[in-house]
Amino acid sequence: MEIEVVEGDITAQQVDAVVNAANSRMRGGGGVDGAIHAAGGPAVLADCERRFPDGLATGDAGWTTAGRMSARWVIHVVGPNRNAGQTDRGLLTSCYRRALEVADEIGARTLAFPLVSAGVYGWPKEDAVDAALETLRATPTNVEMARMVAFGRSSYRLISDRL
Ligand code: ADP
Repeated sequence: MEIEVVEGDITAQQVDAVVNAANSRMRGGGGVDGAIHAAGGPAVLADCERRFPDGLATGDAGWTTAGRMSARWVIHVVGPNRNAGQTDRGLLTSCYRRALEVADEIGARTLAFPLVSAGVYGWPKEDAVDAALETLRATPTNVEMARMVAFGRSSYRLISDRL
C-alpha cells in the first residue's frame, strides 16, 4: 500500500472513502467530524443513526454513506480521548487497523485519513503520526493508497518528516 501526505481539507479528497475522527455516540461533533457532516449533509447523520443506533466503541470503525462528498463512503473511527484519561495507545492503532478492515469489507481501495485523536482528544501529535504510519504499514490490506491529510502546514511538515 502506498502512503502519502497532503495538506488540505479531508472533505475535499477524491478518494473512495474518507476516514472520520468521530466520537462514540456517532451523532456529529466538532473538528473533522463537524466538517464531514457539514460537507456530506444530513444523509451522513441519518446513516449513522440507522446503522449505529448505539454508536461505536473506542478503537472501532464502521462505514456510512459520504452523502454529498465526492467520496463514496465515510469510515468513522473512534479514537481514544486522552483528555478524558484514555491513554491506551492500542485504542489509537486499532482505529487505523479497523479502518483498513472496514475498507476491505466494502471494497474501498483509496482512503484519506485525518490525524485521529490529535485534535480535541489531545493525543501528542508526533506519537499520533507514528501510531498512524506504523499501523498502516503493518496491516495487511487490499487498500492501494492511504493519504494522510494534514490540516495546516505544521502538521504537513510533521507527517512528511516521519513518513
Ligand atoms: P479528535 O477529537 O479525534 O482529536 P479532531 O477533529 O479534534 O479529532 O482533530 C483531529 C485532527 O484533524 C487534528 O489534527 C485537526 O487539526 C485535524 N482536522 C480538523 N479539521 C480537519 C479537516 N477538515 N480536514 C483534515 N483534518 C482536519
